[in-house]
Amino acid sequence: MSKSKSSESVKVVVRCRPMNEKERAAKYESVVSVDVKLGQIIVRNPRESSGNELPKIFTFDAVYGWNSKQLEMYDETFRPLVESVLLGFNGTIFAYGQTGTGKTYTMEGVRNDPEKRGVIPNSFEHIFTHISRSQNQQYLVRASYLEIYQEEIRDLLSKDQSRRLELRERPDTGVYVKDLSSFVTKSVREIEHVMNVGNQNRSVGATNMNEHSSRSHAIFVITVECSELGVDGENHIRVGKLNLVDLAGSERQTKTGAQGERLKEATKINLSLSALGNVISALVDGRSSHIPYRDSKLTRLLQDSLGGNARTVMVANIGPASYNVEETLTTLRYSNRAKNIKNKPRINEDPKDALLREFQEEIARLKAQLQKRSGKKKRRLRRRAGEGSDDEGLESGETEDDEEDGDDKGDYWREQQEKLEKERKAILEDHSLVAEEKARLLKEKERKMEDFRKEREAGEKLAAKVKAMESKLLVGGKNIVDHTNEQQRMLEQKRQEIAEQKRREREMQQQMESRDEETLELKETYTSLQQEVDIKTKKLKKLFSKLQSVKAEIQDLQEAHINERQEMEQIQNELTRDLKLKHLIIENFIPLEEKNKIVNRAFFDEEPEEWKMKPITRIEDDHQMMSRPRSAVGYWRPLSHHARVAMMLKPDMRYKAENIIMLDMDIPARTSKEYQEPVIAPKLAAALEDALRDEDEIEVDASSFHSSLGQMLPAAGASGSLKKPKSGRPRTGKKSSTPTSSYSPSSPGSPLYPQSRGLVPK
Ligand code: ADP
Ligand code: MG
Repeated sequence: MSKSKSSESVKVVVRCRPMNEKERAAKYESVVSVDVKLGQIIVRNPRESSGNELPKIFTFDAVYGWNSKQLEMYDETFRPLVESVLLGFNGTIFAYGQTGTGKTYTMEGVRNDPEKRGVIPNSFEHIFTHISRSQNQQYLVRASYLEIYQEEIRDLLSKDQSRRLELRERPDTGVYVKDLSSFVTKSVREIEHVMNVGNQNRSVGATNMNEHSSRSHAIFVITVECSELGVDGENHIRVGKLNLVDLAGSERQTKTGAQGERLKEATKINLSLSALGNVISALVDGRSSHIPYRDSKLTRLLQDSLGGNARTVMVANIGPASYNVEETLTTLRYSNRAKNIKNKPRINEDPKDALLREFQEEIARLKAQLQKRSGKKKRRLRRRAGEGSDDEGLESGETEDDEEDGDDKGDYWREQQEKLEKERKAILEDHSLVAEEKARLLKEKERKMEDFRKEREAGEKLAAKVKAMESKLLVGGKNIVDHTNEQQRMLEQKRQEIAEQKRREREMQQQMESRDEETLELKETYTSLQQEVDIKTKKLKKLFSKLQSVKAEIQDLQEAHINERQEMEQIQNELTRDLKLKHLIIENFIPLEEKNKIVNRAFFDEEPEEWKMKPITRIEDDHQMMSRPRSAVGYWRPLSHHARVAMMLKPDMRYKAENIIMLDMDIPARTSKEYQEPVIAPKLAAALEDALRDEDEIEVDASSFHSSLGQMLPAAGASGSLKKPKSGRPRTGKKSSTPTSSYSPSSPGSPLYPQSRGLVPK
């Protein structure tokens, strides 16, 4: 069914951001120049010593300088891609580059500035405007937002942000994220809300937002489904899926020096990114038959975007400053390779998992239900009317196709209610009826009214559901209206035409450039020998410089490879060491028999790609576990007949089957002393005794109480200051005296209470 199209390359554009404040303040040199006309990026070597080294030139589908406008970029590069998604193609936009070079700026932009909005918000506008201008088509738009961090997938739109999702694969629809939430959106405002919620959640889970966002991949997915009546009289559905990917920062994560857990973490951080690189290499290599998509979550999920059924644009972001030159070159080389990836996009027609189809079917089902209901209602109405009730005229206005007519429906319900009410009243007022009979009739009427009410509610609910579902299916001019006026439309069109023109011009320029070199040679005729020498010398020079730059490039690449290789070797060494240690433990500490049991139980689960253990079974030849002896049924272990009898007669520990070990607590040896009361001065003892005598013996002498309190206070203050020595020097064990045992007799000034020992001079 799907229209096949010949393969097309991944489109690669490069965008260089302006110098930022810091770089300007530090007076960094700019080493990048951008030739927009030719689509070239030229990078100079900033090192002084390499004055005669040639600048490196890279050519791309389009390049954007520091003053490029977001909208201009959208019209030129992204609009055609989103347009094809609206036609039912899959589309992917990757933003690649070092942290801080403008990936997020390109994808999302500045939220509150319409001029600086990025691809994602601009695509919202584009998609919904397109739908509002469409005719005779039904659209369903939904959005998902997810993040990959350290090879874990997080749904940015789910309530539970601690949950991690798994990838699954189905033969008919390919790889998908299990349980990923997606929201049906009916307008730009709604889809913007979805994006904002996701962005908020993105920062919620992160302790360090900067580090987190530079190490995680964020993927915003918009699925546009469109249903249209085909020439065959059937509804056909096309589904386009747009992946908007803000990749993790491409800078090298230094793995050197990390060990154990830290190393594992470091290798995991950008596994997806290095896997992406490997996939690109394998795709453009042409020799490798195996493309390592399965090496990471990102490449698995976006498999279609790389060499498959999708149109893909990669935006490589770079910074202009000299200190970034290494990363800039790496980014440019990386993207240069990606240009050679060939995709085979096709329109996805009538896929099995189209949600729109489900919606249409569900609506049809609900409508049928509603119709059945109203059919029943009408039948009943007619029957009643036939019985000669007093509201005969009602059904005359109803026709078979009036189930949509809310007014009539309301009337119907009201009339019915009134009628029941009237009947109830009649019963109440009918004095000829016996009381019991009356009560019975009344009850019946009330039950009827209740049933009636329930039915009515159910009907209303159903109708509301149908309405809600229908409102999600967007129909241009009906429930989504284009608000732009003619002038704006013209302007838009002009902008698009200009963008197209520019693109074509650049392509032509590039072609001319390459053709120039080829044809130069063929056409030339020389008038003299000298001229031939001159021209050939010139050409030789040109070719020589080209050779030099290619040689330099080869050397650079070799250096990069050596670095990478060294890093890999180091990782391999670490892993080998880890493996050896584990082997050592297994060989020396785990009995062979047990080891074999474990090996027999272990198996590799393909889906989550990890080793798992089969549950223990009692199958004999697996030798996993012995079967239970007959004598032990119902007991922990085999028991003799004698033991069983003995146990029944008297509970004796000796015959208990369970091995119960009595574990009394070990009381450690004491290291502290018992508290000893201070030696109490005779005077104080007398006072205490006095105080502890039975109540009726106490003689209160208020005047002496006051005076003793007055004398006591300053002493208490002095002892308080004793606790905190002013010197601030920590008290050593030796010096500190135990205050408990050495109370000195009180000074003569205080007759009742002990005084401080006078360590602090007053
Ligand atoms: P990344 O996502 O690649 O780490 P950001 O998009 O966060 O980088 O960009 C870093 C900073 O540079 C931001 O403050 C952003 O506003 C600014 N910036 C990036 N690209 C541009 C550009 N083309 N024009 C103006 N400012 C830019
Ligand atoms: Mg970012």
